[in-house]
Amino acid sequence: MCILDLPQNTVALGESRSVIRDIFEYGNKRRAQIGADKVFDFSLGNPSVPAPKKINSTLSRLIAESDSTVLHGYISSAGLTDARKAIAIEETHRAKMNGSDLCVSYEDVYITCGAAASLAISLSALICPGDRVALLAPFFPEYRVFAEKAGAEVVVIPPSSKEMMPDFDAVERVASAGIKVLIINSPNNPSGAVYDRPVLERLAKILREAQKKTGKMIFLISDEPYRELLYIDTPAPFVPAIYENTLICYSYSKSLSLPGERIGYIVVPSCIQNAEAKKVFASISGAGRALGYVCAPSLFQRMIVECSKEKPDIGAYVRNRNLIYHSLTDMGFDCTPPSGAFYLFIKSPIPDACAFCEAAKAYELLLVPSDSFGIGGYVRLAYCVSEPTLKNALPAFRSLAKQYGLTGKE
Ligand code: PLP
Repeated sequence: MCILDLPQNTVALGESRSVIRDIFEYGNKRRAQIGADKVFDFSLGNPSVPAPKKINSTLSRLIAESDSTVLHGYISSAGLTDARKAIAIEETHRAKMNGSDLCVSYEDVYITCGAAASLAISLSALICPGDRVALLAPFFPEYRVFAEKAGAEVVVIPPSSKEMMPDFDAVERVASAGIKVLIINSPNNPSGAVYDRPVLERLAKILREAQKKTGKMIFLISDEPYRELLYIDTPAPFVPAIYENTLICYSYSKSLSLPGERIGYIVVPSCIQNAEAKKVFASISGAGRALGYVCAPSLFQRMIVECSKEKPDIGAYVRNRNLIYHSLTDMGFDCTPPSGAFYLFIKSPIPDACAFCEAAKAYELLLVPSDSFGIGGYVRLAYCVSEPTLKNALPAFRSLAKQYGLTGKE
């Protein structure tokens, strides 16, 4: 008999699966049993707004008119030069709109298979054994997976307030004890919180002081897949103009409703200190190579060349946000008002958010407990669903509120 030796932590990752995926699978089972219209599945961040029309027409034209061997052929590992140039123009434009004269070159752009790949590559590129990565709770659960796989020790920093803003004193304590990376995500999944310029400037000051104290460069990874899904007037800041040692991780999954197509990018801006940007970019290329994330889907890179300026129509998300936030608040639920993304973070009426999610299932309401987001006692509701689904779910929420004795305006 031969022995099978496998990395135990990797097996455990595969066996445990993500909580979100588990709930989604449960939803599939219930849909088959009682019908899709009776299941109120708020588990997945799968956009319900269709991709802009220009994307489908561009893809159809590319397929109809291109030489197929070229269209589907290998391209450069870091991406098609024309796609990298289109992205660089957009990022330079964002910098300018933020009052920065920073020019992003196409050579600063590495095209990836979505934000997940952008993050996994960036962390693998930066982390040396024993380095620490700080995560601001609540956070996208896969950060922990990518950071630990890259060899980092993860430090979780709880938020300071109900608005899910960073606890600056805690960030200062953790950073000055030594970290290599701080990951930020604004607009945030799961809370919908948005970091404005003063918040980012305070974080930048803390990181600069910690660098001075420890004598080691600290990187900010700005994970920005929801950058365009904003319900406030000011556009998302261009983070490298606020903190120089920043990598931008972006994806078209949410902004252009293309999550299944796996397309995004990393920007390694030239402002990185000590003229180290080229070395960091080399490490990004090396990590992409080592992880096998080279040459992201070429058809979608060709689409970017023509559609990089396309913006989402967020009207449906605005309507859903207003409906669900006000309805649940009126029923007596305690919700964080979301300023961006398409998630509502609700305080569980009992300390055990998992038990609350289980109870919600009795009304066919599928919610995600916050534990895997690095904080207990909350649940996440993804409101990127159709408006009728949201409206039809309200009586079920009313029954749930009644079960827990919540009293609101209703
Ligand atoms: N980062 C955050 C905060 C997310 O919410 C997600 C997906 O939900 C990702 C990264 C991964 O995005 P992608 O599907 O582009 O890999």
